[in-house]
Amino acid sequence: MADPSRHNEDDWDPEEDWDGPPPRTLSRTPPHTPTGSLLRRTRVRVLLPLPLGGAFDYAWTPGFHETPDEGTDPPAPGTFVTVPLGRRMVAGCVWDGPAQPGEVPVDDTRLKDIEAILDAPPLPEIGRRFVDWVARYCLADPGAVLRMAMSVPQALMREAPAMGLVLGDDPPEALGLKMTKARRAVLDAAADRVVRPAKALAEAAEAGIGVVQGLAKAGALLPMALPRQVLFPTPDPDRPGAVLSEEQGRAAALIKERVTAGRYAALLLDGVTGSGKTEVYFEAIAEALRQDRQVLVLLPEIALTPEWLDRFEGRFGVRPASWHSEMKPVLRRRTWRAVAEGEARVVVGARSALFLPFGALGLIVVDEEHESAFKQEEGGVLYHGRDMAVARAHLGDIPILLASATPSIETLVNVRAGRYERLHLPNRHGRATLPEIELVDLVATPPAPGRWLAPPVEKALIETVTGGDQALLFLNRRGYAPLTICGACGFRVGCPNCSGWLVDHRLLGRLRCHHCGFEAPRPSICPDCGAADSFRACGPGVERVAEEVAMLLPEARFMVVSGDTVGSPAQAAEIVRSIRAHEVDVVIGTQMIAKGHNFPKLTFVGVVDGDLGLAGGDLRAAERTYQLLSQVGGRAGRGEKPGRVLIQTHAAAAPVFAALKNGDRERFYETEIAARRAAGQPPFRRLAALIVSAPDAERADAIARDLARTAPLTEKDLRILGPAEPAYAVLRGRHRRRFLVNAPRSFPLQECLGDWLGRVRVPSACRVVVDIDPYGFL
Ligand code: ADP
Ligand code: ZN
Repeated sequence: MADPSRHNEDDWDPEEDWDGPPPRTLSRTPPHTPTGSLLRRTRVRVLLPLPLGGAFDYAWTPGFHETPDEGTDPPAPGTFVTVPLGRRMVAGCVWDGPAQPGEVPVDDTRLKDIEAILDAPPLPEIGRRFVDWVARYCLADPGAVLRMAMSVPQALMREAPAMGLVLGDDPPEALGLKMTKARRAVLDAAADRVVRPAKALAEAAEAGIGVVQGLAKAGALLPMALPRQVLFPTPDPDRPGAVLSEEQGRAAALIKERVTAGRYAALLLDGVTGSGKTEVYFEAIAEALRQDRQVLVLLPEIALTPEWLDRFEGRFGVRPASWHSEMKPVLRRRTWRAVAEGEARVVVGARSALFLPFGALGLIVVDEEHESAFKQEEGGVLYHGRDMAVARAHLGDIPILLASATPSIETLVNVRAGRYERLHLPNRHGRATLPEIELVDLVATPPAPGRWLAPPVEKALIETVTGGDQALLFLNRRGYAPLTICGACGFRVGCPNCSGWLVDHRLLGRLRCHHCGFEAPRPSICPDCGAADSFRACGPGVERVAEEVAMLLPEARFMVVSGDTVGSPAQAAEIVRSIRAHEVDVVIGTQMIAKGHNFPKLTFVGVVDGDLGLAGGDLRAAERTYQLLSQVGGRAGRGEKPGRVLIQTHAAAAPVFAALKNGDRERFYETEIAARRAAGQPPFRRLAALIVSAPDAERADAIARDLARTAPLTEKDLRILGPAEPAYAVLRGRHRRRFLVNAPRSFPLQECLGDWLGRVRVPSACRVVVDIDPYGFL
């Protein structure tokens, strides 16, 4: 049996290299025979959670391996095993996926033996096919994808049970124990022969822990495993939920039908903020629970979960399992295991939850499906959580529900093509109405010099707060100012590792790079012209807007909410609570606070810079601005009183603002879809980015030249742009060049890119990363 103590949970850092169990000597290695026939050695393919180009062959010899159940059959696909790799032992998974180009069968004589079979439920077939599918689609190494499915190595070992104490059979006198009052009390408390933790026994007897330990040492109390705690009790689908409106009821009935049918179906739940989408999909979850299936709910932000968890508990009586990057190692281990064993029935999580080892998944919900936060932009595998979730549902032949008030163009085009079914909730629930949206033309009514709020916004803000309501000022910029500039020579303070400017953070008292985390004090002398005290802040961030609020409304209680002020889910929950409890009059926040929350007292939203998302020339700029500002505006007027939204802009004539103002959603989408089609952009054609990075510009250029020389130019359907310097030509000290490939939907893009990359040699310090369906264009 594998020894769980070989791992120390607290050392586990998911960002660190996957090391697996430490090396140790094999005590039961079978004699290596040249043919392997003597001991009936079987060849077994094992995929390791490392980017090694495919699975490796190992040998299995009956009776010579550590197994939890002393079985002698070769391990079946999906079994987790440990195998030697070089000089260390690593955990891997017995694999049955397609062979990779790099896989070369090892000669029998060089075949190494599997060390042990790990005591964990095997990775189910659908989970394995999903790993292969994601690897093929994203042009990633299958081992790198498996690593996401095996993100908690410790969970592959059965956890040693917690030990308690129980009354022994020998009377204390027979053990030669002198009886004291305290000892008597402990023995009386243990008389019911229930196993208890030592501490609980001491408390029950009102005795010191030392007394209990003494009795255990003498043998009057015996150690025994405590019964296993159920971490995730089954949610009760039959507790009463909200009484659905007719509109909501129709949507819920259709989703329930799809869940009952238990086949693949993709549905879009398209409903304005506050229309009750969550209530509706809770009914679908209830149905999946009645069918004894597991459910996965993907949410884009951890900030969303505290409120969501409360609502879930209100409906189903217990909290679901949750999964995100901030989890403590012990909980991470137990949750992974509870999903594999089927105890965790509902999991709510960030995109990585998609790779949990579900054995009985019956429904996936992707809430806020339009969010670009579902896209993994860094690390070994670049993937879009929503799109992979649809693939997962397809492989598992189960329904998937995408929910949004502002669906992505991709999803709407899928609805039009008949690939997805659309359920529509056009109205807010109950008496709440959609807020009125107005534009503030910054050209006609600019703010006073050095200020950021135009007179109409100032006025609305003051009226709201003095009227006893709450206001939100939205600005998607952390810190005090995005730029620090020398007033004498115009020198801008940049990051030494990235081609970007340092952001002034007054709360921290430092300038900071938002890409690599580089920090420096604000310089007192300009390094360029030598002027003293010449630096001034340029442009607004949330901290600077807060300063303006404090000037306008000295009595008002305000709060800045951004990635810098919200460090943990607990902090996020506390912030949401205090806003809901009206302990704050004015919230100045980034997108951290702009989404998903329901603040009943909030009646006014001011958007400080509506144009922010339009800069940069990203193909989704208008779509994202529309989605973000609709979401922000959706915060206003969720209670009894109607809401009001003012958007400050320099481009009041832009179609996206007209659509927001007139509530003309269909027209906006219509125009945007037509523009994408005309330009041959996604989702009508497909995009992939090739990003070259190297420690210096020369090497980056050399690889870019090689790629340009070997580009598949004979493919006439393909448009290849580049090599070009991306907006961040230097990022975290690495020099970058980029190609963009635009292909028809039916084009075998992955194969073609795979061949192309195979023609170019990439030196070890350099990298070429493929981003299929890129979203960020940094
Ligand atoms: P969405 O997810 O579409 O933004 P929610 O499900 O969060 O909408 O609903 C908005 C608010 O209205 C929530 O407070 C929710 O509890 C309430 N609500 C929605 N539908 C109902 C209903 N049928 N009965 C009672 N309350 C409802
Ligand atoms: Zn930087």
